[in-house]
Amino acid sequence: MNNQKFKNILELNKEEKQKFLDSFDIVLSDCDGVLWLIIGPIKNSGLALNLLKDAGKTCHLVSNNCLRSENEYYDKLTQMNVKNISEIEVVTPIKSVINYLKKINMRKPVYTIADKYFNECLEKSGFKVLNIENKIYENVQQFANDLPVKDEVGAVIFDIDLNLNVTKLDRANKYLQDPNCIFMVGACDAVMPLKEDLNVIGPEIFINLLRKLSNKTPYVLGKPGVLLADYLFERFNIIDPKRVLFIGDNLVQDIGFALNNDFQALLVLSGASNKADVQQLPEVKQPHYFANSIVDFVEFFNDLKN
Ligand SMILES: [Mg+2]
Repeated sequence: MNNQKFKNILELNKEEKQKFLDSFDIVLSDCDGVLWLIIGPIKNSGLALNLLKDAGKTCHLVSNNCLRSENEYYDKLTQMNVKNISEIEVVTPIKSVINYLKKINMRKPVYTIADKYFNECLEKSGFKVLNIENKIYENVQQFANDLPVKDEVGAVIFDIDLNLNVTKLDRANKYLQDPNCIFMVGACDAVMPLKEDLNVIGPEIFINLLRKLSNKTPYVLGKPGVLLADYLFERFNIIDPKRVLFIGDNLVQDIGFALNNDFQALLVLSGASNKADVQQLPEVKQPHYFANSIVDFVEFFNDLKN
């Protein structure tokens, strides 16, 4: 490819490598497909993160995956031998959702379609959470009994729910008919790659369904949402977004998000996207840099030393 973008960080000459390294202070990295694969670790990704930290970079993680608790993220970093993990903050949509609900002083109950951990975090933050427990309907009467709604809710919040069903969606739609009920979403990925050759339908299609039925545009609190960006700018005191390097494997959620916010974007080819996917994009949507994996930083720093 013959353009100014999409450069392999290992193919930069020594001077360009140094210039690239000096061009950012903050590293924001996605997790699944970058630091590890859902099916297992990426060897030496912890070392790569340590080298970036040793070079004076402030590193934080930004993932759309709320199925894993914050402690589980830190356990993974510990297993990867990442140093001083308390310096690293893990941001998932639940944090930006809670921050936003506090900002708008949400007092009414919220209705969620989300995983257990997501609901627990909301409850711990003092919000009243309504949701439908997972159950199996034996007949249509039981099903019909669960459909009417009487509570007034301030927001419908949609995130990944492995037990999603029609009753939950229908109730969300009924709540959203109230003009005062806002529609918030966390992860909005089209596809969730679980492992090589095993993808599942992501939340996007269901969000679009509710959007169509309710005629409401959701507030996106996960990548690539504007409200998540607002949260990150405030939380990490980002003054000059060009001095942030965003590392991710997904062209929409990571690279799109990075480019929308004027971050430098580094695509790693260890997860959801490959070179051919990038080549189909106009240059303006392409990442500035790519690497086969975050582990390429090990060689990158070696090249700088020699
Ligand atoms: Mg990813």
